Amino acid sequence: MTREFPSHVDVAIVGSGPTGAAYARIISEESPQTRIASFEVGPQLTERPGLHVKNIANPEERASAQRRSQGLEPSLSGAPSGEVDGPPRLVRPGTYLLDSGYRQPGEDGLPAAAMSSNVGGMGAHWTAACPRPGGQERIPFIPDLDDLLTEGERLLKVSTSAFAGAPLADEVRRRLSGALDPGRPADRKVSVMPLAVETGDDGSVTWAGSDVVYGEAGRSNPHHSLYADALVTRVLVEDGRARGVVVRDMLSGDEHTVHADYVVVAGDSLRTPQLLWASGVRPEALGRYLNDQPQTVFAVRLRDIPEAAVTSTPSSGTAITPQSGVSWVPYTDEEPFHGQVMQLDASPVPLASADVPAPGSIVGLGWFCAKDIQASDRVAFDDDRVDAYGMPAMSIHYQLTDRDKESIAAAGRSVRRAAAALGEPLNADPITLPAGASLHYQGTVRMGQTPDGTSVCSPESRVWDVAGLYVAGNGVIPTATACNPTLTSVALAIRGARDIVRALHAERN
Ligand code: FAD
Repeated sequence: MTREFPSHVDVAIVGSGPTGAAYARIISEESPQTRIASFEVGPQLTERPGLHVKNIANPEERASAQRRSQGLEPSLSGAPSGEVDGPPRLVRPGTYLLDSGYRQPGEDGLPAAAMSSNVGGMGAHWTAACPRPGGQERIPFIPDLDDLLTEGERLLKVSTSAFAGAPLADEVRRRLSGALDPGRPADRKVSVMPLAVETGDDGSVTWAGSDVVYGEAGRSNPHHSLYADALVTRVLVEDGRARGVVVRDMLSGDEHTVHADYVVVAGDSLRTPQLLWASGVRPEALGRYLNDQPQTVFAVRLRDIPEAAVTSTPSSGTAITPQSGVSWVPYTDEEPFHGQVMQLDASPVPLASADVPAPGSIVGLGWFCAKDIQASDRVAFDDDRVDAYGMPAMSIHYQLTDRDKESIAAAGRSVRRAAAALGEPLNADPITLPAGASLHYQGTVRMGQTPDGTSVCSPESRVWDVAGLYVAGNGVIPTATACNPTLTSVALAIRGARDIVRALHAERN
């Protein structure tokens, strides 16, 4: 069946994860006459585009939606973990691993480098933790960062009341505070984790995906169309200006040219630079400064919990029985780790699968480190080899420095301290997950203040030297962050979207 694609739009958006959705939302709200087309290589999983799969009550339907997000090569997806070519790789439901090129000889590589291909991107599978960056995580040349983060919280519907009724949450935080708060600034003390989660009056929990970011404004905008199963193979660039995109209909194989005045590439930190490379846009910093957040996990059985405080109703369907909730140990420059302490079923990543816990008595601790950023850590692309989608094949070059090894060791000490305050660890030692497991890849299309060769785009996310071309996603973040990056990258997408709105208004008036 031949699908119709528009021949011309004002703004073409590549990718339907939270950052592509943020562009569509802001432009829909602030310039409702603008014609927008969003293109997503993966399938639409749910009737409402971009719904988080955890909101699908039927377990088989949820598992099917996860499988359909796992790209074209199911051999590397689905398994909870596996040994492929040496050190273990870890794959989460709804994601699939980079099949080859994830490690070069003699290097550490990113064995757990993963992607999701579906409407909603990884935002249909995420944990929805939305902390604000602090200290050196913050981008010093974005003066309105706090306002943008507030806007990002609006788009993602971030709240701190998702697990407000959790009977053990206050006790977890009290214990963590006692051990970790002394010396912390007032705004970086142990607190409730801000989550992009809504709780209904009946206690039901709804996880925000791109559907929430698109919002009513993006969804019901008659001038916005979202095309699933549509791979953008090239951004058209003529005379130093983006002119549109070439789209391959994954259902028919047909190619279409869609002319556009502005093009936003929001294809994740590996595929955004891939598309730029495929389009002949190859600034020096493209793909470089790649950084992932080394992640250490531990699980603890809370000590001295009164039996009456533990609920015996297990979570089921989309409902989660509040137990210990989700707590946040914020990053500080002195303690440069981002910590999450959560009841196990509030994470899509099983942390203690072998244990059959008394509900609520076990919490998972995840500590993330900021990487020592270096230009040599990069995703490079091949002009002669292609991946399963026919796009330039990726090779990851990635090395942990001595500083990284020290900070991973320090994170291990810090997580042990937190665990000791809470109860008895289930294992002798914390586990450091394989590199890439954080799923927070940054830096590959980073922003900078000037086009000095160390950045790909401006503070407005405009690609240097290609007018009308914008990049979005965690790859834009130039700093070494330890906290979950989506709120920050949505905030930066809002800034970029407003830049487009300003330019459109200036052209029309
Ligand atoms: P994505 O969500 O990755 O979306 C990019 C989309 O672009 C994809 O759907 C892809 O198919 C599409 N695309 C790529 N190339 C093309 C092309 N050429 N043509 C057409 N389409 C293309 N982050 C947090 O901040 N907090 C968390 O708690 C958290 N937990 C997570 C837990 C899990 C299990 C996972 C999987 C992720 C988690 N993340 C978390 C990461 C978070 O999901 C990502 O940061 C976020 O989704 C990034 O948004 P994005 O729009 O930049 O990219």
